[in-house]
Amino acid sequence: MAKILFSSPKGMKDILPEKEEVWKKILSSVEKVAQAYDFHFIETPILEKEELFLRSVGKETETFKQMYSFTTKGKERVVLRPEGTAPICRAYIENGMSSLPQPVKLYYFGPFFRYERPQKAREREFHQFGFEVLGAKDPFYDALVILAFSDILKSLKLKDFIIKINSIGCSKCRKKYLQALKKYYRAYLNELCEDCRRRFEVNPLRMLDCKEEKCQIYKKGAPIILDFLCKDCKEHFKAVLEFLDHLSLPFSLDHTLVRGLDYYTNTVFEFFLKEEEEMANLALGGGGRYNELIKALGGSQTPAVGFGAGIERIIEAMELEGIKVEKKPREIFLIALGEEAKREILLVWEELKKAGFRAQEAIEKGSISAQLKAASKAKAKIALILGQREVAEKTILIKDLESGIQEEIPQRKLIEELKKRIK
Ligand SMILES: [Zn+2]
Ligand SMILES: [Zn+2]
Repeated sequence: MAKILFSSPKGMKDILPEKEEVWKKILSSVEKVAQAYDFHFIETPILEKEELFLRSVGKETETFKQMYSFTTKGKERVVLRPEGTAPICRAYIENGMSSLPQPVKLYYFGPFFRYERPQKAREREFHQFGFEVLGAKDPFYDALVILAFSDILKSLKLKDFIIKINSIGCSKCRKKYLQALKKYYRAYLNELCEDCRRRFEVNPLRMLDCKEEKCQIYKKGAPIILDFLCKDCKEHFKAVLEFLDHLSLPFSLDHTLVRGLDYYTNTVFEFFLKEEEEMANLALGGGGRYNELIKALGGSQTPAVGFGAGIERIIEAMELEGIKVEKKPREIFLIALGEEAKREILLVWEELKKAGFRAQEAIEKGSISAQLKAASKAKAKIALILGQREVAEKTILIKDLESGIQEEIPQRKLIEELKKRIK
């Protein structure tokens, strides 16, 4: 084989037809759930201004530091979008969606990017779907997005998940908590990892998220944010948990769950697979409230809640759990011999399409026997054969590939006959 001249960029992979069925299954599950709960499709540009993420996910977050950012020929600082929520808030403000009936319920599906060393389940290009409810503060909507995520996982047969959930309060009650957290950690600063020491200054909440072995013991004794929530935040969180109870959704409280982005308020949650050790630390997705984000981006005060889910991670989870999406063979195989027959078979195919049948072909195989061989290899049930004589007589040969029995019928009766043979 000749030497490969080009390969895809580091950390970016082709999604190949061998994964077609599972990708389509996920996409169709997302769409079914979105339709059922009245979420509407949105697609924002792959590029956004860098400033958007500076003001939303925050400068000190991994997500911000790992962005693909560059200056365009027009001297504009742009990035390949690292996440879906901030662009949707930008679109909400820019397109005046606050004047639509509220809440505005949106869903998306597409590629996202992070510039870091590629590792297992963390590629530079990855795909996410997400659901967002903008302009609603009721805990009903926290529950609705969690329910939607759960339903998608269940429809993919991923039943053994657990929802880790926490509340990080509003900016008011969080301020008091952060003071207490810093007061507690100050005594141990010299014992903590380098990251934690930096976070202590810039983003103390993230210290609860530290995975370093030596920091774990200090995390255990840290003050718990739930004890600091103001009355509204406490009531909101309690109501969310009551919804989840009522829906029989499996959740566990995790007071170290803070999410890696600055814009979250109140409810935060992540979905994990219960039994798969390999994915113990890899969330399938997560989300939460971002009641203060739209205002921070220049809109009016607009409470909102949503989640994003990693499609590659979900596929990996399905593989680990041995969940297969069956590839349905095309039942009809089209065979044509000669130029006239080739022209005619395209018209036949178009008729099949109109009637809802799916067919395949191997026209370039040449002889009828070679084309028939391809048909049986493809596990087709029926072959439709067209030669010069059949074209002239406006007939077609219909061959049952299981029994080998073949019959010549008028072309105008083809659809009727196929409906009898294929349900
Ligand atoms: Zn509060
Ligand atoms: Zn640490």
